[in-house]
Amino acid sequence: MIVYKFGGASVNSADAVRNMAGIISRCTTFPLMVVVSAMGKTTNALEQLIPGVCPTQLRQQRMAALRDYHCAIADELMAGDAALHDDLEALMEALDLATQAPATTYNDDYDSIVSYGELLSTTIISHYLRHCGMDNRWLDVRQLIFTDANHREGHVDWPATTVAVGDLRRQLPRLSVTQGFIAGAPDGTTTTLGREGSDYSAAILSYCLDAESMTIWKDVPGFLNADPKFFPDTIKIDSIPYNEAIELAYYGASVIHPKTVKPLKNKNIPLFIKSFLSPEDEGSAVGPYQGISPETPLYIVRHAQVLISISSKDFSFIAEHNLQTIFGIFSRIGVRINVMQNSALSFSVCIDHNEVLLKQLIEALQTDFHVRYNTGLQLITIRYYTQAIIDHIVAGRPVLLEQRSRNTEQVVVEG
Ligand code: ASP
Ligand code: MG
Repeated sequence: MIVYKFGGASVNSADAVRNMAGIISRCTTFPLMVVVSAMGKTTNALEQLIPGVCPTQLRQQRMAALRDYHCAIADELMAGDAALHDDLEALMEALDLATQAPATTYNDDYDSIVSYGELLSTTIISHYLRHCGMDNRWLDVRQLIFTDANHREGHVDWPATTVAVGDLRRQLPRLSVTQGFIAGAPDGTTTTLGREGSDYSAAILSYCLDAESMTIWKDVPGFLNADPKFFPDTIKIDSIPYNEAIELAYYGASVIHPKTVKPLKNKNIPLFIKSFLSPEDEGSAVGPYQGISPETPLYIVRHAQVLISISSKDFSFIAEHNLQTIFGIFSRIGVRINVMQNSALSFSVCIDHNEVLLKQLIEALQTDFHVRYNTGLQLITIRYYTQAIIDHIVAGRPVLLEQRSRNTEQVVVEG
């Protein structure tokens, strides 16, 4: 059995869904499980419908835009299909009710609204595949992947998930369609796995089903050595070791979600990254390789970074005791450190810019420390660097922090 994952961009219009159906129709390995994200930018649109976020007078207008977008795709694919129409209406009605419920906590409300994106997309796609003669079963992933009740960033309950997917495995349909990103909490409510979490969903299912392979269909030809939005000449990497892919995702490579590779590596399941625009092309493979091929430098840029310098008020060394306090604060507020460096009297960290969290963090740190920070920075990571490459990338900008290991150079510069 194999798993295909299609992201939002691969199903953002009727034409895109037709293209996706074409890819599925050419698949020759079964059973095939298809994991799908919300269509296009639907998740962003749903975030604007959360009670407490959405001004009352804009609710109906935003609901209507969301409904029109999905109904237009459904009509273009299968005009007048009563069964699809009824299923979509039922989802729209439930969503409409959810958006009118009194606000509770942001995270709980988030999951109860935002999860509709994947329910809508998979409903349209499952009907359309059937319409094209590809019989399939629509699976509610909330009965398969279980998490704790940590809404908006659920932690997978592996034992419960393994049992549920194991039951399915005994009678796995030849073709099934299910949702990425969403999952079930112990109390029966819906949770989500964090933004862009559909890759992770597909990896969880691949792991529990002992898939032969997993393929992510993207709008890029594969795993590139840099983001084509910022680098003119990118090179496609043909093969990448699991560990390298995990490191790259950690540094911020956005092609795969950071949690995706680990479950696959644990069962030696190869991960293919292919273009839905040219599906016959080779793409990239992540697997048990020795090194990347072809050998080339890799660039990862994190934008909108903040560099915080923390020093003790009493000139005490920044050693174990102070570091423990500092890390405690970061962990309590939930801020991820992208790179860190310490000297005798000061400790510097680079983090993503989030106005709310930054304020909380600075306030908490100021109790015991002097704190300074710079915003508007870039954190550039170069794997397999040379000095010439670093000079070219830094391009004369002042370097605020630099860290170098045998394979990896990290610099923080002005954006
Ligand atoms: N639809 C979700 C998001 O946009 C999950 C995903 O696309 O992977 O974040
Ligand atoms: Mg997405």
